[in-house]
Amino acid sequence: MVLDAVARRQDAIAAAVRDGLLGREAPVIGLLDVQGIRETARELHAAFAGPAPVLHTFAVKAASLVPVLELLGAEGVGCEVASPGELELARAAGVPADRTVFDSPAKTVGELRDALETGVAVNADNPQELARLDALVAERAAAGLSPGAPLGLRINPQVGTGSIGAMSTATATSKFGVALRDEGAEQWVVDSYLARPWLTRLHTHTGSQGVPLELMAESVRTVYELAERINRQAGEQRIDTIDIGGGLPVNFGGDETEPSFAAYAGVLRRTVPGLFDGRYTIVTEFGRSLLAKQGFIAALVEYTKTAGGRRIAVTHAGAQVATRTAFAPEAWPLRVGAFDGEGAPKLAHEVVQDVAGPCCFAGDLVARGTALPELEPGDVVALWDTGAYYFSTPFQYNSLPRPAVHGFWRDGDGRVRFALVRPAQRIEEVLADSGAAQSGALTGAPAGRAGGPHRLASSSAS
Ligand SMILES: *Cc1c(COP(=O)(O)O)cnc(C)c1O
Repeated sequence: MVLDAVARRQDAIAAAVRDGLLGREAPVIGLLDVQGIRETARELHAAFAGPAPVLHTFAVKAASLVPVLELLGAEGVGCEVASPGELELARAAGVPADRTVFDSPAKTVGELRDALETGVAVNADNPQELARLDALVAERAAAGLSPGAPLGLRINPQVGTGSIGAMSTATATSKFGVALRDEGAEQWVVDSYLARPWLTRLHTHTGSQGVPLELMAESVRTVYELAERINRQAGEQRIDTIDIGGGLPVNFGGDETEPSFAAYAGVLRRTVPGLFDGRYTIVTEFGRSLLAKQGFIAALVEYTKTAGGRRIAVTHAGAQVATRTAFAPEAWPLRVGAFDGEGAPKLAHEVVQDVAGPCCFAGDLVARGTALPELEPGDVVALWDTGAYYFSTPFQYNSLPRPAVHGFWRDGDGRVRFALVRPAQRIEEVLADSGAAQSGALTGAPAGRAGGPHRLASSSAS
């Protein structure tokens, strides 16, 4: 299956060149493997299948593209959202409220009210947010309404850190959730549930990249045991749903999917068998592990050069589409594929080279000192495993436009077909997003007399 996926992706590059999707007019694009996405969603369902009801949701931030959410929706995967924009994307994709989970560390009262009115599950992050829910639930009760949506609390089990600090959400001092091991916190959580019959879920998300499976499973075990304690003390099954979050790491070093959903579910079944026995509904929120390996970036090589003995290929894919790799290359290394101008795998002898992007800062590299077939202008590079958090969440540095994203699949004759998932941003749109319609806004303000900063200070006070 891995070989088939590799062949599919290679064929897609040649077909993208053939069909003119990648070329002078479109020197960088994102590509998504539709069959790969479907297969991955099926592997996820299979890994967690059992007596316990399961709702799988996709963390929208990992690939915030409506057609992708629709495709996952068609495979029975809902949405985890963390902003009003993401919630609207889920709605636009037709994902029903009862398959949507709203987690965000900074939900406003308006967002919370909207979630309750529309039935979107909410995981409150902290005591202040719970107090806002109290007020909204009371407001609804006064109007004769139920709370309206399943509600829970996000727990930080404080199990420790993985290899990437910025990606570790369950450290002692993480900004997410209620820090369970802080003085008095666990008792506060238990009391909070006992006092609120409408609080029926517990949530934890111990991610992500760089966090070992055992550590993630430890978090889930902690939350499961908390649910058991609350239910015991309530004398009934108050907590009916445990949301275990996402965070499964992705192997950026090779084509194999490692670890698999099955491996993680196996660790969970051994560590927390009670979670799977059918008393609880399980919610998951995987992002990167569902999409990373199902997408890649293809970009033209514009120039090649040497500097101080270092060989550099200047391409059209840099920090604007591979932001994390450019800014934190040790944490986010990418594999690069080399193709010729027709999109066929390049057979030239390998030389050590850097692969750079088009942005005007020195760190705009997507690979350093990597051995690749010697690249030439007009060649194509592929940045593998970039289906999540890369081209779908571009960075508008240097006013570079968002690239187009295309989905691909093979038709019955084995020919690669494409569908546009998101059009490239046009230069007019770049202008509009850059205040072009506000032209004159600043030069029209009074220029003031020469006289230095005190003039500015007095005019801003007036
Ligand atoms: C980002 C996020 C996820 C998804 O994380 P991945 O590492 O992409 O699987 C799930 N849940 C929450 C609350 C998140 O913030």
